[in-house]
Amino acid sequence: MSKTHTITLIQGDGIGPEVTGATRKIIDATGVKINWEICEAGAQVFKKGLSTGVPQETVDSITRNKIALKGPLETPVGHGEKSANVTLRKMFETYGNIRPIREFPGVATPFSGRDVDLVIVRENVEDLYAGIEHMQTPNVAQCLKLISRSGCEKIIRLAFEFARSEGRKMVHCATKANIMKATEGLMKRTFEEVAKEYTDIQAQHIIVDNCAHQLVKMPELFDVIVTTNMNGDILSDLGSALIGGLGFAPGANVGDHFSIFEAVHGSAPKYAGQNKINPTAVLLSGVMMLRHIGEFEAAETIEQALVVTLGIDKVYTRDVMGDAGSVSTTTFTDKIIANFGRKHPEWQERAYQPINMPQLTNSQKSISVKTRSVNGIDLFIEAHNDLDGMGRKLTNLAGSANLKLKMISNRGVQVYPNDHGTEPDLTDCFRCRFVSKDGADVNDSDIMKLVSLVNPDYRWMHIEKLNVFDGVAGYSKAHGED
Ligand code: NAD
Repeated sequence: MSKTHTITLIQGDGIGPEVTGATRKIIDATGVKINWEICEAGAQVFKKGLSTGVPQETVDSITRNKIALKGPLETPVGHGEKSANVTLRKMFETYGNIRPIREFPGVATPFSGRDVDLVIVRENVEDLYAGIEHMQTPNVAQCLKLISRSGCEKIIRLAFEFARSEGRKMVHCATKANIMKATEGLMKRTFEEVAKEYTDIQAQHIIVDNCAHQLVKMPELFDVIVTTNMNGDILSDLGSALIGGLGFAPGANVGDHFSIFEAVHGSAPKYAGQNKINPTAVLLSGVMMLRHIGEFEAAETIEQALVVTLGIDKVYTRDVMGDAGSVSTTTFTDKIIANFGRKHPEWQERAYQPINMPQLTNSQKSISVKTRSVNGIDLFIEAHNDLDGMGRKLTNLAGSANLKLKMISNRGVQVYPNDHGTEPDLTDCFRCRFVSKDGADVNDSDIMKLVSLVNPDYRWMHIEKLNVFDGVAGYSKAHGED
Protein backbone atom coordinates (compact mmCIF):
# COMPACT_ATOMS: atom_id res chain seq x y z
CA MET A 1 0.00 0.00 0.00
CA SER A 2 1.31 3.43 -0.88
CA LYS A 3 1.99 6.01 1.77
CA THR A 4 -0.49 8.75 2.76
CA HIS A 5 1.03 12.20 2.40
CA THR A 6 -0.24 15.10 4.50
CA ILE A 7 -0.01 18.33 2.54
CA THR A 8 -1.07 21.86 3.39
CA LEU A 9 -3.48 23.28 0.81
CA ILE A 10 -3.97 27.03 0.59
CA GLN A 11 -6.80 27.64 -1.84
CA GLY A 12 -5.98 31.30 -2.35
CA ASP A 13 -7.85 34.35 -3.58
CA GLY A 14 -9.70 35.22 -6.80
CA ILE A 15 -9.40 32.25 -9.14
CA GLY A 16 -7.44 30.35 -6.44
CA PRO A 17 -10.27 28.06 -5.24
CA GLU A 18 -11.07 27.08 -8.86
CA VAL A 19 -7.48 26.27 -9.87
CA THR A 20 -6.57 24.50 -6.63
CA GLY A 21 -9.94 22.69 -6.64
CA ALA A 22 -9.28 21.36 -10.15
CA THR A 23 -5.74 20.34 -9.20
CA ARG A 24 -6.87 18.53 -6.07
CA LYS A 25 -9.58 16.66 -7.97
CA ILE A 26 -7.09 15.51 -10.65
CA ILE A 27 -4.40 14.49 -8.15
CA ASP A 28 -6.93 12.61 -6.01
CA ALA A 29 -8.21 10.80 -9.13
CA THR A 30 -4.75 9.25 -9.66
CA GLY A 31 -5.22 7.29 -6.44
CA VAL A 32 -2.25 8.90 -4.68
CA LYS A 33 -3.26 9.17 -1.04
CA ILE A 34 -3.14 12.74 0.14
CA ASN A 35 -4.57 14.09 3.36
CA TRP A 36 -5.10 17.76 2.42
CA GLU A 37 -4.95 20.18 5.34
CA ILE A 38 -6.93 23.21 4.15
CA CYS A 39 -5.48 26.46 5.48
CA GLU A 40 -6.14 30.13 4.97
CA ALA A 41 -3.85 32.97 3.84
CA GLY A 42 -4.22 36.20 1.88
CA ALA A 43 -7.21 38.48 1.37
CA GLN A 44 -9.66 36.84 3.82
CA VAL A 45 -6.99 36.95 6.49
CA PHE A 46 -6.10 40.61 5.86
CA LYS A 47 -9.82 41.40 6.10
CA LYS A 48 -9.95 39.78 9.53
CA GLY A 49 -7.27 42.28 10.60
CA LEU A 50 -4.17 40.05 10.63
CA SER A 51 -1.51 42.20 8.99
CA THR A 52 0.78 39.33 7.92
CA GLY A 53 -1.99 37.66 5.91
CA VAL A 54 -0.74 34.30 7.21
CA PRO A 55 -2.42 32.94 10.39
CA GLN A 56 -0.47 30.89 12.93
CA GLU A 57 -2.52 27.74 12.07
CA THR A 58 -1.24 27.96 8.49
CA VAL A 59 2.34 28.45 9.68
CA ASP A 60 1.94 25.46 12.04
CA SER A 61 0.49 23.28 9.28
CA ILE A 62 3.38 23.98 6.86
CA THR A 63 5.91 23.57 9.68
CA ARG A 64 4.45 20.10 10.39
CA ASN A 65 3.93 18.95 6.83
CA LYS A 66 6.96 20.58 5.16
CA ILE A 67 5.01 20.74 1.87
CA ALA A 68 2.23 23.04 0.67
CA LEU A 69 0.26 23.52 -2.52
CA LYS A 70 -0.83 27.09 -2.78
CA GLY A 71 -3.28 29.09 -4.87
CA PRO A 72 -2.49 32.73 -5.70
CA LEU A 73 -2.82 35.33 -2.97
CA GLU A 74 -3.92 38.88 -3.63
CA THR A 75 -1.66 41.72 -2.48
CA PRO A 76 -2.94 45.25 -1.95
CA VAL A 77 -1.04 47.39 -4.52
CA GLY A 78 0.91 50.49 -3.50
CA HIS A 79 -0.37 50.71 0.07
CA GLY A 80 -1.33 48.62 3.07
CA GLU A 81 -0.05 45.21 4.01
CA LYS A 82 2.91 43.14 2.85
CA SER A 83 2.45 40.38 0.27
CA ALA A 84 1.40 37.16 2.04
CA ASN A 85 3.16 35.29 -0.81
CA VAL A 86 6.48 36.91 -0.01
CA THR A 87 5.88 36.45 3.73
CA LEU A 88 5.39 32.69 3.23
CA ARG A 89 8.50 32.41 1.04
CA LYS A 90 10.57 34.26 3.62
CA MET A 91 9.11 32.54 6.71
CA PHE A 92 9.96 29.12 5.30
CA GLU A 93 13.21 30.24 3.64
CA THR A 94 12.16 28.83 0.28
CA TYR A 95 15.04 30.63 -1.37
CA GLY A 96 14.70 29.04 -4.80
CA ASN A 97 11.77 29.55 -7.13
CA ILE A 98 11.90 27.02 -9.96
CA ARG A 99 9.70 28.00 -12.90
CA PRO A 100 9.64 25.67 -15.94
CA ILE A 101 8.50 27.04 -19.31
CA ARG A 102 7.90 24.28 -21.84
CA GLU A 103 5.97 24.40 -25.09
CA PHE A 104 2.80 22.26 -25.16
CA PRO A 105 1.70 20.43 -28.28
CA GLY A 106 -1.55 21.94 -29.56
CA VAL A 107 -1.18 25.31 -27.81
CA ALA A 108 -0.50 27.62 -30.73
CA THR A 109 1.72 30.63 -30.07
CA PRO A 110 4.05 32.68 -32.29
CA PHE A 111 6.80 30.42 -30.91
CA SER A 112 5.17 27.06 -31.66
CA GLY A 113 7.60 24.50 -33.05
CA ARG A 114 10.64 26.26 -31.59
CA ASP A 115 11.01 23.70 -28.77
CA VAL A 116 10.86 26.25 -25.99
CA ASP A 117 11.93 24.26 -22.95
CA LEU A 118 13.65 26.36 -20.32
CA VAL A 119 13.55 26.88 -16.58
CA ILE A 120 13.92 30.09 -14.65
CA VAL A 121 15.53 29.68 -11.23
CA ARG A 122 14.62 32.86 -9.39
CA GLU A 123 16.19 33.91 -6.11
CA ASN A 124 13.15 34.17 -3.88
CA VAL A 125 13.86 35.91 -0.58
CA GLU A 126 16.35 38.75 -1.10
CA ASP A 127 16.75 41.74 -3.40
CA LEU A 128 14.19 44.55 -3.48
CA TYR A 129 11.57 42.04 -2.31
CA ALA A 130 13.04 42.07 1.19
CA GLY A 131 10.56 44.95 1.28
CA ILE A 132 12.70 47.34 3.35
CA GLU A 133 11.34 50.73 2.33
CA HIS A 134 11.54 54.17 3.88
CA MET A 135 10.27 57.58 2.94
CA GLN A 136 13.46 59.66 3.17
CA THR A 137 11.62 62.96 2.96
CA PRO A 138 7.97 63.67 2.15
CA ASN A 139 9.10 63.58 -1.50
CA VAL A 140 11.64 60.80 -1.80
CA ALA A 141 11.12 57.06 -1.27
CA GLN A 142 13.83 54.45 -0.87
CA CYS A 143 13.83 50.65 -1.20
CA LEU A 144 16.89 48.68 -0.09
CA LYS A 145 18.21 46.12 -2.55
CA LEU A 146 19.85 43.57 -0.29
CA ILE A 147 21.87 40.81 -1.89
CA SER A 148 24.01 38.48 0.21
CA ARG A 149 27.02 36.42 -0.84
CA SER A 150 25.49 33.29 0.71
CA GLY A 151 22.12 34.00 -0.94
CA CYS A 152 23.86 34.15 -4.33
CA GLU A 153 25.92 31.06 -3.59
CA LYS A 154 22.80 29.05 -2.65
CA ILE A 155 20.63 30.03 -5.61
CA ILE A 156 23.46 29.56 -8.12
CA ARG A 157 24.37 26.15 -6.74
CA LEU A 158 20.67 25.25 -6.77
CA ALA A 159 20.46 26.24 -10.46
CA PHE A 160 23.43 24.02 -11.36
CA GLU A 161 22.14 21.14 -9.23
CA PHE A 162 18.70 21.53 -10.75
CA ALA A 163 20.24 21.47 -14.26
CA ARG A 164 22.00 18.24 -13.37
CA SER A 165 18.82 16.71 -11.92
CA GLU A 166 17.03 17.22 -15.25
CA GLY A 167 20.02 16.47 -17.48
CA ARG A 168 20.18 20.08 -18.70
CA LYS A 169 23.41 21.36 -20.21
CA MET A 170 23.50 25.15 -19.96
CA VAL A 171 22.97 27.73 -17.20
CA HIS A 172 22.71 31.45 -17.97
CA CYS A 173 22.97 33.97 -15.14
CA ALA A 174 20.93 37.11 -15.90
CA THR A 175 21.92 40.23 -13.97
CA LYS A 176 22.12 43.99 -14.21
CA ALA A 177 25.76 43.90 -13.01
CA ASN A 178 26.76 46.57 -15.52
CA ILE A 179 24.80 49.18 -13.53
CA MET A 180 24.48 47.75 -10.00
CA LYS A 181 28.04 46.53 -9.56
CA ALA A 182 27.85 45.77 -5.84
CA THR A 183 24.46 43.99 -5.69
CA GLU A 184 23.80 42.43 -9.10
CA GLY A 185 27.59 42.30 -9.52
CA LEU A 186 27.81 40.03 -6.47
CA MET A 187 25.47 37.59 -8.21
CA LYS A 188 27.60 37.69 -11.38
CA ARG A 189 30.91 37.25 -9.55
CA THR A 190 29.54 34.38 -7.45
CA PHE A 191 28.16 32.72 -10.59
CA GLU A 192 31.54 32.90 -12.30
CA GLU A 193 33.26 31.32 -9.28
CA VAL A 194 30.69 28.58 -8.67
CA ALA A 195 30.45 27.70 -12.38
CA LYS A 196 34.08 26.46 -12.29
CA GLU A 197 32.94 23.52 -10.14
CA TYR A 198 30.27 22.44 -12.65
CA THR A 199 32.47 21.57 -15.60
CA ASP A 200 29.75 19.32 -17.09
CA ILE A 201 27.45 22.33 -17.57
CA GLN A 202 28.06 25.37 -19.79
CA ALA A 203 27.80 28.65 -17.92
CA GLN A 204 27.23 32.08 -19.38
CA HIS A 205 26.43 35.48 -17.94
CA ILE A 206 23.90 37.67 -19.75
CA ILE A 207 22.72 41.21 -19.01
CA VAL A 208 19.08 40.90 -18.00
CA ASP A 209 17.66 43.35 -20.54
CA ASN A 210 19.38 41.44 -23.34
CA CYS A 211 18.07 38.23 -21.76
CA ALA A 212 14.52 39.57 -22.13
CA HIS A 213 15.29 40.45 -25.75
CA GLN A 214 16.86 37.06 -26.54
CA LEU A 215 14.00 35.22 -24.79
CA VAL A 216 11.62 36.67 -27.35
CA LYS A 217 14.02 36.48 -30.30
CA MET A 218 15.62 33.08 -29.71
CA PRO A 219 13.98 31.34 -26.74
CA GLU A 220 15.44 28.00 -27.82
CA LEU A 221 18.88 29.35 -26.80
CA PHE A 222 18.02 28.95 -23.14
CA ASP A 223 18.03 25.92 -20.87
CA VAL A 224 18.27 27.20 -17.25
CA ILE A 225 18.35 30.89 -16.29
CA VAL A 226 19.35 31.82 -12.75
CA THR A 227 18.63 35.35 -11.66
CA THR A 228 17.87 37.75 -8.84
CA ASN A 229 14.39 38.09 -7.38
CA MET A 230 12.89 40.99 -9.31
CA ASN A 231 14.55 40.04 -12.61
CA GLY A 232 13.16 36.53 -12.16
CA ASP A 233 9.68 37.80 -11.40
CA ILE A 234 9.56 39.76 -14.63
CA LEU A 235 11.36 37.22 -16.85
CA SER A 236 9.07 34.41 -15.75
CA ASP A 237 5.89 36.27 -16.71
CA LEU A 238 7.57 37.00 -20.06
CA GLY A 239 8.53 33.34 -20.33
CA SER A 240 4.96 32.19 -19.70
CA ALA A 241 3.83 34.23 -22.72
CA LEU A 242 6.18 32.18 -24.96
CA ILE A 243 4.11 29.05 -24.31
CA GLY A 244 0.57 30.40 -24.20
CA GLY A 245 0.40 32.66 -21.16
CA LEU A 246 0.24 32.61 -17.39
CA GLY A 247 -2.30 29.79 -17.41
CA PHE A 248 0.55 27.41 -18.37
CA ALA A 249 3.45 28.41 -16.09
CA PRO A 250 3.95 26.37 -12.89
CA GLY A 251 6.43 26.90 -10.08
CA ALA A 252 8.02 25.45 -6.96
CA ASN A 253 9.40 27.45 -4.05
CA VAL A 254 12.11 25.27 -2.54
CA GLY A 255 14.45 25.52 0.42
CA ASP A 256 16.42 23.28 2.77
CA HIS A 257 13.38 22.20 4.80
CA PHE A 258 10.15 23.33 3.12
CA SER A 259 8.63 23.42 -0.35
CA ILE A 260 5.62 25.45 -1.45
CA PHE A 261 4.24 24.72 -4.91
CA GLU A 262 2.38 27.48 -6.74
CA ALA A 263 1.77 28.86 -10.23
CA VAL A 264 3.56 31.94 -11.57
CA HIS A 265 0.22 33.70 -12.02
CA GLY A 266 -1.78 35.73 -9.53
CA SER A 267 -5.40 35.75 -8.46
CA ALA A 268 -6.75 37.20 -11.77
CA PRO A 269 -9.70 38.73 -9.88
CA LYS A 270 -11.70 39.69 -12.95
CA TYR A 271 -12.16 35.99 -13.81
CA ALA A 272 -12.88 34.78 -10.26
CA GLY A 273 -15.89 32.48 -9.88
CA GLN A 274 -16.63 32.31 -13.63
CA ASN A 275 -15.41 28.73 -14.22
CA LYS A 276 -13.39 29.96 -17.21
CA ILE A 277 -9.76 30.04 -16.25
CA ASN A 278 -7.00 27.60 -17.03
CA PRO A 279 -6.00 25.34 -14.12
CA THR A 280 -2.90 24.02 -15.95
CA ALA A 281 -0.32 26.19 -14.15
CA VAL A 282 -1.41 25.09 -10.68
CA LEU A 283 -1.94 21.52 -11.90
CA LEU A 284 1.65 21.39 -13.19
CA SER A 285 2.82 22.89 -9.88
CA GLY A 286 1.00 19.92 -8.32
CA VAL A 287 2.84 17.60 -10.74
CA MET A 288 6.15 19.11 -9.56
CA MET A 289 4.97 18.46 -6.02
CA LEU A 290 4.14 14.81 -6.81
CA ARG A 291 7.66 14.29 -8.17
CA HIS A 292 9.07 15.99 -5.07
CA ILE A 293 7.27 13.49 -2.82
CA GLY A 294 8.34 10.57 -5.01
CA GLU A 295 4.98 9.94 -6.72
CA PHE A 296 6.53 9.80 -10.19
CA GLU A 297 3.90 7.53 -11.76
CA ALA A 298 0.98 9.77 -10.80
CA ALA A 299 2.94 12.82 -11.99
CA GLU A 300 3.54 11.21 -15.37
CA THR A 301 -0.10 10.06 -15.66
CA ILE A 302 -1.34 13.63 -15.13
CA GLU A 303 1.24 15.25 -17.40
CA GLN A 304 0.52 12.86 -20.27
CA ALA A 305 -3.27 13.21 -19.83
CA LEU A 306 -2.92 17.00 -19.89
CA VAL A 307 -0.77 16.95 -23.03
CA VAL A 308 -3.21 14.56 -24.74
CA THR A 309 -6.12 16.85 -23.79
CA LEU A 310 -4.34 19.85 -25.31
CA GLY A 311 -2.38 18.30 -28.16
CA ILE A 312 -4.62 15.50 -29.44
CA ASP A 313 -8.16 16.23 -28.24
CA LYS A 314 -7.69 20.01 -28.72
CA VAL A 315 -9.72 20.85 -25.64
CA TYR A 316 -8.92 24.30 -24.31
CA THR A 317 -10.00 26.87 -21.76
CA ARG A 318 -10.90 30.43 -22.73
CA ASP A 319 -7.36 31.88 -22.45
CA VAL A 320 -6.25 29.73 -25.42
CA MET A 321 -9.11 30.22 -27.87
CA GLY A 322 -11.51 32.84 -26.56
CA ASP A 323 -15.15 32.22 -25.71
CA ALA A 324 -16.11 30.38 -28.89
CA GLY A 325 -15.28 26.70 -28.67
CA SER A 326 -13.55 26.78 -25.29
CA VAL A 327 -14.64 24.67 -22.32
CA SER A 328 -15.13 25.54 -18.68
CA THR A 329 -12.50 24.92 -16.02
CA THR A 330 -14.52 22.00 -14.66
CA THR A 331 -15.03 20.37 -18.09
CA PHE A 332 -11.29 20.74 -18.81
CA THR A 333 -10.55 19.14 -15.44
CA ASP A 334 -12.86 16.17 -16.09
CA LYS A 335 -11.41 15.73 -19.57
CA ILE A 336 -7.89 15.40 -18.13
CA ILE A 337 -9.10 12.74 -15.68
CA ALA A 338 -10.87 10.90 -18.52
CA ASN A 339 -7.55 10.88 -20.41
CA PHE A 340 -5.59 9.11 -17.66
CA GLY A 341 -3.62 6.26 -19.25
CA ARG A 342 -3.31 7.89 -22.69
CA LYS A 343 0.08 9.14 -23.89
CA HIS A 344 1.08 11.80 -26.39
CA PRO A 345 3.54 10.26 -28.89
CA GLU A 346 5.73 13.39 -29.01
CA TRP A 347 5.83 14.26 -25.32
CA GLN A 348 9.13 13.03 -23.91
CA GLU A 349 9.27 12.54 -20.18
CA ARG A 350 12.46 13.88 -18.65
CA ALA A 351 14.68 11.63 -16.58
CA TYR A 352 13.88 13.40 -13.31
CA GLN A 353 16.26 12.90 -10.40
CA PRO A 354 15.85 14.44 -6.95
CA ILE A 355 17.71 17.76 -6.69
CA ASN A 356 20.89 17.52 -4.64
CA MET A 357 20.08 20.56 -2.47
CA PRO A 358 23.20 22.67 -1.87
CA GLN A 359 24.71 22.63 1.61
CA LEU A 360 26.99 25.60 2.14
CA THR A 361 30.22 25.28 4.06
CA ASN A 362 30.97 27.88 6.74
CA SER A 363 33.41 29.68 4.46
CA GLN A 364 30.74 29.86 1.74
CA LYS A 365 28.18 31.20 4.23
CA SER A 366 30.36 34.06 5.41
CA ILE A 367 33.35 35.65 3.70
CA SER A 368 36.07 36.96 5.99
CA VAL A 369 38.47 39.73 5.03
CA LYS A 370 42.01 40.46 6.17
CA THR A 371 41.78 44.23 6.30
CA ARG A 372 38.94 46.70 6.61
CA SER A 373 38.80 50.45 6.97
CA VAL A 374 36.29 53.29 6.73
CA ASN A 375 37.18 55.99 4.18
CA GLY A 376 34.34 58.30 5.16
CA ILE A 377 30.57 58.47 5.22
CA ASP A 378 27.60 59.38 3.09
CA LEU A 379 25.21 61.45 5.19
CA PHE A 380 21.73 61.78 3.70
CA ILE A 381 20.03 65.06 4.58
CA GLU A 382 16.86 66.92 3.70
CA ALA A 383 17.51 70.40 2.32
CA HIS A 384 15.67 73.09 0.42
CA ASN A 385 18.04 76.04 0.44
CA ASP A 386 20.67 77.02 -2.12
CA LEU A 387 23.28 74.42 -3.01
CA ASP A 388 26.33 76.67 -2.86
CA GLY A 389 25.33 77.88 0.59
CA MET A 390 24.84 74.30 1.72
CA GLY A 391 28.20 73.27 0.27
CA ARG A 392 30.05 76.08 2.04
CA LYS A 393 28.27 75.41 5.35
CA LEU A 394 28.93 71.65 5.29
CA THR A 395 32.57 72.24 4.30
CA ASN A 396 33.02 74.40 7.40
CA LEU A 397 31.21 71.98 9.71
CA ALA A 398 33.22 69.02 8.40
CA GLY A 399 36.46 70.78 9.27
CA SER A 400 35.44 70.82 12.94
CA ALA A 401 34.88 67.04 12.88
CA ASN A 402 38.21 66.11 11.33
CA LEU A 403 36.51 65.40 7.98
CA LYS A 404 36.15 67.12 4.63
CA LEU A 405 33.18 67.43 2.32
CA LYS A 406 34.06 65.62 -0.93
CA MET A 407 30.86 66.18 -2.83
CA ILE A 408 27.06 66.40 -2.63
CA SER A 409 24.89 64.34 -4.94
CA ASN A 410 21.18 64.31 -5.67
CA ARG A 411 19.56 61.13 -7.02
CA GLY A 412 23.09 59.79 -7.60
CA VAL A 413 24.47 62.76 -9.61
CA GLN A 414 27.16 65.03 -8.20
CA VAL A 415 25.68 68.52 -7.89
CA TYR A 416 28.30 70.16 -5.62
CA PRO A 417 30.91 71.14 -6.53
CA ASN A 418 29.19 71.52 -9.89
CA ASP A 419 32.20 71.22 -12.20
CA HIS A 420 30.19 70.08 -15.18
CA GLY A 421 27.87 73.03 -15.51
CA THR A 422 24.80 70.76 -15.90
CA GLU A 423 21.54 71.43 -14.08
CA PRO A 424 19.85 68.22 -13.00
CA ASP A 425 16.43 68.50 -11.31
CA LEU A 426 16.89 68.51 -7.55
CA THR A 427 14.83 66.65 -4.98
CA ASP A 428 14.95 67.55 -1.28
CA CYS A 429 17.11 64.48 -0.43
CA PHE A 430 20.87 65.07 -0.71
CA ARG A 431 23.76 62.65 -0.20
CA CYS A 432 26.73 64.44 1.35
CA ARG A 433 30.00 62.53 1.05
CA PHE A 434 32.50 63.26 3.80
CA VAL A 435 35.95 61.71 3.77
CA SER A 436 38.90 61.72 6.08
CA LYS A 437 40.95 64.94 6.03
CA ASP A 438 44.27 63.16 6.01
CA GLY A 439 43.47 59.70 4.55
CA ALA A 440 43.30 58.08 8.02
CA ASP A 441 40.49 55.71 9.02
CA VAL A 442 37.35 57.65 9.94
CA ASN A 443 36.20 56.80 13.44
CA ASP A 444 32.75 56.78 15.02
CA SER A 445 33.35 59.77 17.30
CA ASP A 446 34.17 61.97 14.27
CA ILE A 447 30.99 60.72 12.59
CA MET A 448 28.82 61.42 15.64
CA LYS A 449 30.40 64.85 16.02
CA LEU A 450 29.66 65.71 12.40
CA VAL A 451 26.04 64.55 12.69
CA SER A 452 25.53 66.66 15.83
CA LEU A 453 27.03 69.69 14.06
CA VAL A 454 24.85 69.24 10.95
CA ASN A 455 21.67 68.50 12.87
CA PRO A 456 20.68 72.06 13.90
CA ASP A 457 20.59 73.15 10.26
CA TYR A 458 19.48 70.05 8.37
CA ARG A 459 17.26 67.04 9.06
CA TRP A 460 19.31 63.90 8.45
CA MET A 461 17.83 60.53 7.41
CA HIS A 462 20.63 58.02 7.43
CA ILE A 463 24.36 57.42 7.29
CA GLU A 464 26.24 54.93 5.15
CA LYS A 465 29.85 54.13 5.98
CA LEU A 466 32.30 54.11 3.06
CA ASN A 467 33.76 50.68 3.82
CA VAL A 468 36.94 49.36 2.23
CA PHE A 469 37.42 45.58 2.42
CA ASP A 470 40.86 44.15 1.58
CA GLY A 471 41.69 47.39 -0.19
CA VAL A 472 38.58 47.35 -2.40
CA ALA A 473 36.08 50.21 -2.05
CA GLY A 474 32.69 48.82 -1.02
CA TYR A 475 30.70 51.76 -2.34
CA SER A 476 29.87 53.34 -5.65
CA LYS A 477 30.83 56.78 -6.90
CA ALA A 478 28.23 59.35 -7.82
CA HIS A 479 27.76 60.12 -11.51
CA GLY A 480 30.27 62.85 -12.26
CA GLU A 481 32.37 62.16 -9.14
CA ASP A 482 36.08 61.72 -9.72
P1 NAD B 1 -2.49 37.82 -12.58
O1 NAD B 1 -1.42 36.82 -12.83
O2 NAD B 1 -3.44 37.51 -11.48
O3 NAD B 1 -3.36 37.99 -13.90
C1 NAD B 1 -2.94 38.68 -15.06
C2 NAD B 1 -3.73 38.17 -16.25
O4 NAD B 1 -3.20 36.89 -16.64
C3 NAD B 1 -5.20 37.87 -15.98
O5 NAD B 1 -5.99 39.01 -16.12
C4 NAD B 1 -5.51 36.82 -17.00
O6 NAD B 1 -5.72 37.44 -18.27
C5 NAD B 1 -4.23 36.02 -17.08
N1 NAD B 1 -4.24 34.82 -16.22
C6 NAD B 1 -3.61 34.67 -15.03
N2 NAD B 1 -3.83 33.44 -14.57
C7 NAD B 1 -4.61 32.80 -15.46
C8 NAD B 1 -5.18 31.49 -15.54
N3 NAD B 1 -4.96 30.57 -14.61
N4 NAD B 1 -5.93 31.19 -16.62
C9 NAD B 1 -6.14 32.09 -17.58
N5 NAD B 1 -5.64 33.33 -17.58
C10 NAD B 1 -4.87 33.69 -16.53
O7 NAD B 1 -1.76 39.22 -12.35
P2 NAD B 1 -2.32 40.59 -11.74
O8 NAD B 1 -3.68 40.87 -12.30
O9 NAD B 1 -1.23 41.54 -11.92
O10 NAD B 1 -2.45 40.31 -10.18
C11 NAD B 1 -3.68 40.04 -9.51
C12 NAD B 1 -3.37 39.78 -8.04
O11 NAD B 1 -2.58 38.60 -7.89
C13 NAD B 1 -2.60 40.91 -7.36
O12 NAD B 1 -3.15 41.13 -6.08
C14 NAD B 1 -1.19 40.36 -7.25
O13 NAD B 1 -0.49 40.91 -6.17
C15 NAD B 1 -1.47 38.89 -7.05
N6 NAD B 1 -0.36 38.00 -7.46
C16 NAD B 1 -0.16 36.91 -6.70
C17 NAD B 1 0.82 36.00 -7.07
C18 NAD B 1 1.02 34.79 -6.21
O14 NAD B 1 0.14 34.43 -5.44
N7 NAD B 1 2.15 34.10 -6.31
C19 NAD B 1 1.58 36.20 -8.23
C20 NAD B 1 1.32 37.32 -9.01
C21 NAD B 1 0.34 38.21 -8.63
